[in-house]
Amino acid sequence: MTAEIICVGTEILLGNIVNTNAAYLAEKLAASGLDCYYQTVVGDNAERLAGVLKCAMERSDVILLSGGLGPTEDDLTKETVAKVCGKKLSVDDHSMERIAEFFAVRDIQPTENNWKQAMVPEGAKVLDNDNGTAPGIILETEKNRIVLLPGPPAELIPMFDQQVLPYLDALTPGVICSRMVKLCGVPESQVEDTLKDLIDGQTNPTIATYAKTGEVHIRVTASGENAKAAGKTIKPIVKELKSRFGGDIYSTREETTLEMAVADLLLANDLTVTTAESCTGGMIAARIINVPGVSECYKAGLVTYSNKAKRKFLGVRKSTLDKYGAVSSKTAGEMAKGAALLLKADVAVAVTGIAGPDGGTEEKPVGLVYIGCCVKGELTVKEYHFSGTRSQIREATTSAALILMRSCILKYFSKVTFGKK
Ligand code: ATP
Repeated sequence: MTAEIICVGTEILLGNIVNTNAAYLAEKLAASGLDCYYQTVVGDNAERLAGVLKCAMERSDVILLSGGLGPTEDDLTKETVAKVCGKKLSVDDHSMERIAEFFAVRDIQPTENNWKQAMVPEGAKVLDNDNGTAPGIILETEKNRIVLLPGPPAELIPMFDQQVLPYLDALTPGVICSRMVKLCGVPESQVEDTLKDLIDGQTNPTIATYAKTGEVHIRVTASGENAKAAGKTIKPIVKELKSRFGGDIYSTREETTLEMAVADLLLANDLTVTTAESCTGGMIAARIINVPGVSECYKAGLVTYSNKAKRKFLGVRKSTLDKYGAVSSKTAGEMAKGAALLLKADVAVAVTGIAGPDGGTEEKPVGLVYIGCCVKGELTVKEYHFSGTRSQIREATTSAALILMRSCILKYFSKVTFGKK
């Protein structure tokens, strides 16, 4: 069964908003085993939308449309779909009630055009919108299944996950299951190379890699008669991935983030942690504090941007700064040690680097970053060369700091376990 995505909105065409809905829907379609061969963006223009829709109806079974379900004049997705399919629009009482309730709860007076959102094509299935006023719609024709979703991601995502996915799953025989294997600190090219023989000629399960900042995620997807059968197909591949990537895998759970894995490691080993940040300005602390319950191990951290602050709070030596500079391996090391001492933390991570766009020299270019990590007095400092904008460099540095922290803790405990310490 094939699917196709049409996103409606002139603001997407103009580049005013990023088409995250298409990315979201495409990933979900792939995971549910529907082949998506086309994605289109079309402006708020009935004629052009009708043209795109007719074309999609010719070549795809399922068509997902996002946007243009609002109350205003330029929201014309529903009207256009109804016209192309030869259906009349009529009032849906249930949607009418929900819209009235939506406004009553918020003590807002609806405007006349809000009721337009309760109009649905005859014979359509209505999808409740728990986060807005525009209901979603599923319209079935002889050949196609057309799904209309609201544009705001906060409305589209829950509606799609809770109401459309089960509908799509029921269209395809059997089930599709997937498992995510998350790696950190390994370049995507290396991951792909290590997986080449598994990826070549894959049918069931399939293996797909996704590069993230500092991470690579591998999704293993299998179809089967039922969840148990699909799970059985996935299991040996996940086992093989574990044997190939070992400690580079930080989780095999979709919902686990890198910071969660690091926090788990800290908590499981009863370690306290602190951060001393220069170019990331608190981003590492923010990532760690993303994890609920982390107050058990993260008590405090510092942003030491100036040389003076590095000296005053972390005890970085003047001679180090004079001789090697603020962006140097020595400074990163002294920052990490100083933070661990000051905050009496078992683990301290410190970063210093040149995020740009100015401040780079031939010797120390933009993107040069040093990260120091101290685990119970054992110091590791690494040099990195990142590229991109200031925010990309800061983001890459943040991920690298978490990854270094993870590997230093693992290294420390592997030595303890094997009696080398
Ligand atoms: P509303 O009922 O809020 O008017 P709608 O279904 O008419 O919703 P649009 O008016 O097309 O949707 O878009 C509303 C907002 O939703 C946009 O301003 C944008 O912030 C977001 N949005 C729309 N389409 C997309 C998309 N493809 N990707 C990401 N965000 C989107």
